[in-house]
Formats: sequence, C-alpha cells, structure tokens
Amino acid sequence: MGDASAVTQPYLPVFRNVPAAGPGVCRVCHSGPNERRALKAPYEMCASCRRTTGGVFRHTPHVVPVSLCARRGDGTQLYDIVARHRGPVSPSGGPDRSTFLAATLARFHRAHRACLTRAAGGEFTLVTTVPVTRTDRPVEAFHPMLRVVGMVRDLMRLHRPVLLPGDSESALARLAGRESDDRAFHVIGGVGGARVLLVDDLFVSGARVQSAASALFRAGARAVVALVVARLVDPSSNVTSARVWARASAERFDFERCCLCGPAAGCLDRPA
Ligand SMILES: [Zn+2]
Ligand SMILES: [Zn+2]
Repeated sequence: MGDASAVTQPYLPVFRNVPAAGPGVCRVCHSGPNERRALKAPYEMCASCRRTTGGVFRHTPHVVPVSLCARRGDGTQLYDIVARHRGPVSPSGGPDRSTFLAATLARFHRAHRACLTRAAGGEFTLVTTVPVTRTDRPVEAFHPMLRVVGMVRDLMRLHRPVLLPGDSESALARLAGRESDDRAFHVIGGVGGARVLLVDDLFVSGARVQSAASALFRAGARAVVALVVARLVDPSSNVTSARVWARASAERFDFERCCLCGPAAGCLDRPA
C-alpha cells in the first residue's frame, strides 16, 4: 500500500473533520440531522440514531467516522469513492479505491488508536467488518472492506471475518429500510469477551452498524467500537446539519484530530 500519509496527503480536500459530540451534534454518530435543540448534556442523539439504536438488543454508543461526506455539492468526492465505488479522482498512477481506503484507515488508526481503545475500555482483541447484504447497492459477491482491512497492517493482525448476513428475509428488509434488526447478521466463531473494532465504509443511518454491533453483543462481545470511513450528512435537511457541514467545509481537514479528541463544534451556539 505504501506510506499511508503519502497516499492520503494529496486528497485532504475530499475529507471533512467530524465534530465532537455537543449541542447539535449527535453523541453516537457525531453528526446527522439533529432536529432537537436540547442543550444539556448528555447530548441528544440524532433522529437516525434514536431509531437504529432503539431497535436492537444492545447498540454501540461509539461510532467514530474518519470524515463526513455529502451526496451533493462539494462533498461528493468522498461519497463517490465510498458509496459509488469509484477510485479517487487523480492523475494516472493515483491509488485505486481499496488502496485509498486502506491508507485512510491506516493513517487515522495510527493517529487515534488511543482514542478508539479508550472508547472500548481496553485493548481491542478483534477487528471485523460489516458484510455486504443483498439489500446493499451495488450488489457484490465479494465484500471489498475485507480486502481493505487486509491491507492495513495494524488492523490485519486482529482481523477475523466473524459476521455473516442473516437469513431472515424480514430482517434484511428492515435493514434495507434503514431499520436495525438483531437478526440482520449472525456471528460465526467465538467472540465471547471480545473487544471489537467494527469497520465499515459508509454510515448512513446506523442500521448496518447497530445491527452488526448487536449481533456481536448477543454473541458475547464485551465492547464494540465502530470505525467508519464516512458519515453521510444531508446539509439540506435542517439548519443544524447545514451548520455542521458548513463548519467542516470551511476548515482544513486534520488527520490528527478525531471526534473523540477534537474540539466540540458548538454548532447551535455560533453561526458557521
Ligand atoms: Zn446520530
Ligand atoms: Zn482522536
């Protein structure tokens, strides 16, 4: 893969800093439409997280996106890479999608290993990915994140693909409708007592991550922290999302800060 910093450095403009939890910033996914203006801690969850954390046996309160992304406007580059499976726009000889995502995860993980470990309450014992389900688009027989994680030395060490799509049609249908379900995934192999770093490429509603986290908890995992490359936001959905996005777009992306160790955005207090 080469040096992760060298691979990612030319692409800093495609990333957006993820704010710390705070007023107007969801305490689970660190963004998303948060239509409630509650200012007291503990901070509110966004509407998506309220829905997807509520429907399962146990959810993870720790979702750590590397970057925000948007489907329209100037934030689409990362969305195109993560969701539309394109390679980064670059002169010939630039990294392909897998190399780019692996370098992104490697650089972020190296900088924030302590933040992630603290959230898990101890050293990780397992790294795993959320598998593709039939409801995902585009449908792929092979899960590209397996390959990506396999390219990151620090993650590969603990990597075991323990999650498989479940065989409940209704659970998969719920997942497609952005609802979480304990039966959407099942776990193979022992995960009892494990501290799991759950890796995925795109966080939209949390249905995939929270369903997978719940399956891991049901199988005996002690802690689950989700590391996702991009959290999709819709700046047009409400004023809070618009401010989160505007603030993130106005500043330079910094791999040395994350939503666990960076400053709170205070998005309701000040104009972006
Ligand atoms: Zn949220
Ligand atoms: Zn950090």
